[in-house]
Amino acid sequence: RAKQHYRGSTEFHHAELSLKETQRRNLLSDLRLALTQQQMTVVYQPQFSLPDQQVTGVEALVRWQHPTKGAIPPDEFIPLAEEYGLSAEITEQVIQRCTQELAESGLLGHAIPRVSINISAVEFNSPPLFERLTHMLNQSPRLSPYLQIEITETATLANLQHSADAINRLHRSGIQFSIDDFGTGYTSLTMLKDLPVNEIKIDRSFTRDMMNQSQVAAIVTAIISMARAFDLTVVAEGIEQQDQLTLLTDMHCDEVQGYFMATPMPITELIEFIGQTA
Ligand code: C2E
Ligand code: MG
Ligand code: MG
Ligand code: MG
Repeated sequence: RAKQHYRGSTEFHHAELSLKETQRRNLLSDLRLALTQQQMTVVYQPQFSLPDQQVTGVEALVRWQHPTKGAIPPDEFIPLAEEYGLSAEITEQVIQRCTQELAESGLLGHAIPRVSINISAVEFNSPPLFERLTHMLNQSPRLSPYLQIEITETATLANLQHSADAINRLHRSGIQFSIDDFGTGYTSLTMLKDLPVNEIKIDRSFTRDMMNQSQVAAIVTAIISMARAFDLTVVAEGIEQQDQLTLLTDMHCDEVQGYFMATPMPITELIEFIGQTA
């Protein structure tokens, strides 16, 4: 009986795996098509200084509206893009959109001092992808001076020395760097030591849990004072409530970003939003 049950569950397991695999392949081919058809759009989430709450910049976040499945979250398709060498294509389309929309708005460098884009660590590990990135940035003189690149520490950045060379070259050409989701990975401190970083972003899990866990609040305090010692800007992510904002202000955090102040929005709404806050 036990054997039969075991065999049954194994078959079920296989069936489920192949369904997942099929879905993955479908999503991959849809993603390829979406990229050739330029279906990707970008939304912008403002960031604010503390305590005065002035706009210090925006983070550009990619959006994919699938023709039949609706909006597909980046956390689903970015890993797939990374695995199949499509992340440079996404970066290219994000940079194009930012150039068309933000540079065109005339706000960049004035009411919006800076724009941050997310770049997959794989793009720094692969020389051809890195060449493509450099080329794109050189082709975007209206965007590059205000650009900051957010890198999330992942396993792929394990080859830190190789990536560091690439990152140093971009840094020398004036691009700023930020470590995203700071504190969640294993090499945060190594990145801080070895890379020319301007900013760190405290991960949302910390700004959420600091409200009811004193140890987490202590970690946030420590990250802020470490950022101060390294002369880095520190941004807290995922602020959803007034009490988080109050605590971070008391902790002398430099900047905040989150739904409580502003959600990610398309360029038309961003222009309106900036008009209201100015
Ligand atoms: P991230 O770079 O850490 O971006 C922050 C994410 O948190 C965004 O999700 C944003 O919409 C969301 N967020 C902002 N404020 C709040 C808040 O108050 N509460 C909550 N619960 N969430 C908040 P999104 O846009 O779904 O992006 C998810 C991740 O996908 C990003 O995390 C980033 O790692 C990646 N990603 C997004 N756009 C791009 C892109 O253009 N290129 C690459 N390579 N990765 C991207
Ligand atoms: Mg980010
Ligand atoms: Mg983040
Ligand atoms: Mg992230």
